[in-house]
Amino acid sequence: MKWPQNITTLAVVGALLGTLALQVYLISQEYHTRAIRLKVDLNERFLEAVQEEKEIRVDSAVNWFEFILGNEDLVELWADTIGSPYEATRIVYHLRDSTGERSSVSFVSDTITDHFPEIDQAYIRRRLLIQARSDTEEGTLFYYTDLLAHLMQEHLSSMMTNLDTLRKIYTDRVNSYRGLPEFGLNFIPLDSIPLSQAHAGFVTLAHRSELLRPKWKVQATYNSLWKAAFWRARYAVLGGSISLLLTVGVFLVMLRTLRTQQRLARMKDEFIDNTSHELQTPIATLMAIHEGFEKYAVLEDREKTQRYLKTAKGQVQRLARLADQVLRGAQNLQATTPHTKAIQWNDFLAELELAYGHMEKVRFMVRNQYSPSTIITDPQLLRQALDNLIDNGIKYNDKEVPEVQMTCSENKSGVQIKISDNGPGIPEEEQARVFEKFYRVSEAGTHNVKGFGMGLYLVKQAIESLGGQVALHSTTDSGTSFTLTLPQNEHA
Ligand code: ADP
Repeated sequence: MKWPQNITTLAVVGALLGTLALQVYLISQEYHTRAIRLKVDLNERFLEAVQEEKEIRVDSAVNWFEFILGNEDLVELWADTIGSPYEATRIVYHLRDSTGERSSVSFVSDTITDHFPEIDQAYIRRRLLIQARSDTEEGTLFYYTDLLAHLMQEHLSSMMTNLDTLRKIYTDRVNSYRGLPEFGLNFIPLDSIPLSQAHAGFVTLAHRSELLRPKWKVQATYNSLWKAAFWRARYAVLGGSISLLLTVGVFLVMLRTLRTQQRLARMKDEFIDNTSHELQTPIATLMAIHEGFEKYAVLEDREKTQRYLKTAKGQVQRLARLADQVLRGAQNLQATTPHTKAIQWNDFLAELELAYGHMEKVRFMVRNQYSPSTIITDPQLLRQALDNLIDNGIKYNDKEVPEVQMTCSENKSGVQIKISDNGPGIPEEEQARVFEKFYRVSEAGTHNVKGFGMGLYLVKQAIESLGGQVALHSTTDSGTSFTLTLPQNEHA
């Protein structure tokens, strides 16, 4: 019976772990996707920032060029960069004269004089500089254009990527990203291995933006992006985590239900086992008595007849008690209204002493410190509860002479009755459950004593229906005590 139950539990736990693993995997995937998207975004923003910074420099070069030419009326000047954004190597300055015709002059950082013919074309054929033309006639053009080219080169050399401007632009662009750490900006040699893992959690793609420094690139470096990535994935991670918790919750409920079912199945088996045992003994005794009367002329022996009848009565009472317990267990006792009345407390206690005080090999003691002579209660319900507690104190006791002590005292709300024994006690982990219907402590030793697991359940039901409470105090090896508190004001 145990094997398949364990397999079911294992299967449920396995399914739980599998689902958990899957959900954790999905959450982490979602996080990684967002982290990658963030990196792509940061690269794009960096590229835009590099472009913008470059345009600022180009504009400044254009202004400077106009200033050098010294004739803004004649010439309209603008500039384009040539090459991909990553590899822009040239700026082309366009000139337009007053007739609307266009031309361009191109400079390359380290080979500007190689492009002399273009400069020549720009300045001679478009006749933008009157002075240059007259100088041409005098044969001194080379000097001016060469001088101009060198001035341009000097100017552009002083105009390499400005990291401060770039930082400002880039900071503005990534401002809207929550949780982003500070970034570092630096130049790296064009052919170097990227800084990447050695220095940083993440580096942007390196962009070559220095027009006059072709062997260098610029890049941004972040220490760690996990916070920003987490912020981006927050809804997915939150949603995933909630569903994770729900899954765990549902599985726990399932597991609990499963265990309850397993426990109920075990209790059912025990119940059937116990019931048949409990019924068989009195039935067998009654059969034997009947046989005695029928076959062995017991009736002729008066003293024997008395003894047999007494035994038969005991067994019938036992059967009646069993039937009563089973039936009461099937009903909900809370629904029944107790029939309370004032009873003589001393008489009630005397009856208990009569029932238990003369048992062989049992010490039963009553200490009464409750002063009022009457109490208001349902005597049958109270007696039934006390019988169960005293019976338990005796039957679960492993001492040679079991001792059960009943102490009655007065407290704020009414009467307090404490039943203590010197038995083995109830293990702490079982204490919360012993009041459950059909629950029995699963200690091999204790289960030599037969029962239905109904006694304490009935005690609790009875006392609560009287408006009272039951408390259990027990430590293994130093006995058990149950304290019943019954209010007197409400019922009085
Ligand atoms: P039952 O009707 O089978 O005796 P109860 O509901 O009265 O069941 O008790 C439940 C369990 O609590 C029992 O299985 C027993 O192990 C434990 N128990 C109850 N009273 C005592 C006691 N006085 N000392 C030790 N164990 C007890």
